[in-house]
Amino acid sequence: MKQPDIYDSDNRLILENCTVCPRECRINRFEGGTGYCGISAGFNIASICIHRGEEPVISGRNGICNIFFSGCNLHCIYCQNHEISQNNSLVPDSAMDPFVVLDKISRILSDDISAVGFVSPSHVVPQVKEIIKGLNSMGLRPVTVYNTNSYDKAETIRSLSGLIDVYLPDYKYVTPALAFEFSDAHDYPEVALRAIKEMYYQKGSVLRTDKNGRAENGMLIRHLVLPGHAEESKKVLLSIAEELSPGVHLSLMSQYHPAHRVMNIPDLNRSLYREEYESVVEYMNSLGFRNGYVQEMDSHISYRPDFRKDDPFE
Ligand code: SF4
Repeated sequence: MKQPDIYDSDNRLILENCTVCPRECRINRFEGGTGYCGISAGFNIASICIHRGEEPVISGRNGICNIFFSGCNLHCIYCQNHEISQNNSLVPDSAMDPFVVLDKISRILSDDISAVGFVSPSHVVPQVKEIIKGLNSMGLRPVTVYNTNSYDKAETIRSLSGLIDVYLPDYKYVTPALAFEFSDAHDYPEVALRAIKEMYYQKGSVLRTDKNGRAENGMLIRHLVLPGHAEESKKVLLSIAEELSPGVHLSLMSQYHPAHRVMNIPDLNRSLYREEYESVVEYMNSLGFRNGYVQEMDSHISYRPDFRKDDPFE
């Protein structure tokens, strides 16, 4: 399929010999080549929809316009979005027309929904930049949210300075063997920490909000506690406290639900026990974290998307 030629020269060069993310596959994504992420130079969007299930400071009362990209540069065995991240069969049009993308987003944006979230964007950063530029050229300046697994190159994050208002990085592991076993990326801990440090360099600890309590600028670090791995979660929290600051905004998540390829993996084939989550919360408090969110224990029931629907979260 012919890919859209809408990129500036920098973005075109990087997609012709792809080094967008740490995998550095060096394939030409304009010629049908797909590297580890499985995604061409097209827009490859699985869904553009209003999402009310993010943290209150991200969703606000009325939701955020989230753009869900298909493909991913991590292949997590427990991925909740595996229907689109590791399987393109549900993506209706892999090279969605850029004008259709901009039109859909602009129809959702309003005074009540003033932010655009780019979900799992690490492998489509050139596309993200073109969408932001396109919106700006239409006179639209939404709050831009980079909702990432953090397997990003620090230099790529640096290139987003001035384009992204709010970073929403997930910090998953600090143990390379676990990162390899669960997400097929042995170097995830060092790569993610470098990327998050770059975000911190750009934004610092302050998460600025508007008069309605919606994030306008800053960073909120997410961490999903995995069943049977409370000790890993504590190491992640310690790393944030030591390498950044306990003053950063943190979102501790309990919503894990067994999905995708975990049925025969001990611990991952169940939900989180209350005691293990509470031990992580206690440790988080002992480190002095004071800004952010602690998700309630029964949240996993309401966070499972179905990407076969027009609105995956309804
Ligand atoms: S974005 Fe995709 S093709 Fe490019 S380096 Fe990363 S995994 Fe490979």
